Amino acid sequence: MLMRFARMLGLLLIGCSFAPGARAEWMERTEAIMGTRCYVELWSDDPDKGNAAIDAVMAELRRIDDLMSHYKPDSQLSQINARANQEPVQVDKELFDLIKLSTHYSQITEGAFDITYASVGYLYNYPLHIHPTEEQIKAALPAVNWRNMLLDEEHHTVRFEHPGMRIDLGGIGKGYAVDRGIEILQARGVQNAVVTAGGDSRIIGDHRGRPWLVAIRHPDDPKKVVTRIPLSDTAMSTSGDYERYFDEDGVRYHHIIDPRTGHSASKVRSATILAPTATQTDGMSKTAFVLGAEKTLEIINRMPEYDAVFVLPDGKVLYSNGLRPAAPRPPGAPPSEPTAASPVPP
Ligand code: ADP
Ligand code: MG
Repeated sequence: MLMRFARMLGLLLIGCSFAPGARAEWMERTEAIMGTRCYVELWSDDPDKGNAAIDAVMAELRRIDDLMSHYKPDSQLSQINARANQEPVQVDKELFDLIKLSTHYSQITEGAFDITYASVGYLYNYPLHIHPTEEQIKAALPAVNWRNMLLDEEHHTVRFEHPGMRIDLGGIGKGYAVDRGIEILQARGVQNAVVTAGGDSRIIGDHRGRPWLVAIRHPDDPKKVVTRIPLSDTAMSTSGDYERYFDEDGVRYHHIIDPRTGHSASKVRSATILAPTATQTDGMSKTAFVLGAEKTLEIINRMPEYDAVFVLPDGKVLYSNGLRPAAPRPPGAPPSEPTAASPVPP
């Protein structure tokens, strides 16, 4: 059970131990939704109520996918991409609000997060090993700019001001869906649970009195651990260049795109963001790939709700101020207990 949760996170979960018999009351399920693996695990004394709660979360994830998927021609997001070049396209307030929120992340990441990346991003096909030529990128790149989306608050319409513009919510929709799933569980009185969609997770409560201990995997070896962090009552997103990619002539083409160049963004190998909600962590987890770890740490360290762990191309691990491993203990001092969200050695 624990290892399965760990795989959902793209991480390893290590070192939690439980009283015999306690496992029976953890309920879990995995489904393929939003083009990824979605996972719910919760503690429930009543299996019927627990199952009904998991059903409700999965139904919510499917509803959000139907609204926001760019793979589904009937989704409202696809309607925007089909028509917003010609006219304002009206959408549900929920979708409008998430598009608007995405521009907030564009602002605080200095444009590293930009849902109009899709104007170039659609030219890549990772399973088929297809990437655009330099000429194709040059032609499509002027359409990448979130400031050229006109958002009408009153009518909930979206209008593109640049031809060839497209949007995609793959970089924030899963975090949003995870938060909606957690709200559903909380409304049903669930106190200890985790909801995961792809690289985005949120934990409420803990694992029966102990934190979840999650280990951040090595970018090149899913079995190797670079660091471990005890977590409870938090959201976490990990983005990695090993999730959707192919290698060609020594270049890694992967799914996080630098909106300034149209190429895969490679300043870090993985970025893990911690914050209260998964919408927040998803919105920030692409930034370091584009801006680099140092610049992103400046941003993260200015925002007290956020923490981050970056794995650099040379394998070095960087932490935000709130996560710095404790300084070595003086000789003879008693060992310290790990505190919540303080990394422990692998
Ligand atoms: P996951 O889908 O597993 O949660 P990420 O959170 O790392 O993975 O999001 C990666 C996705 O974000 C890409 O597949 C793409 O849909 C989207 N994306 C890629 N580059 C950007 C960008 N610069 N700004 C916003 N979204 C992006
Ligand atoms: Mg994500």
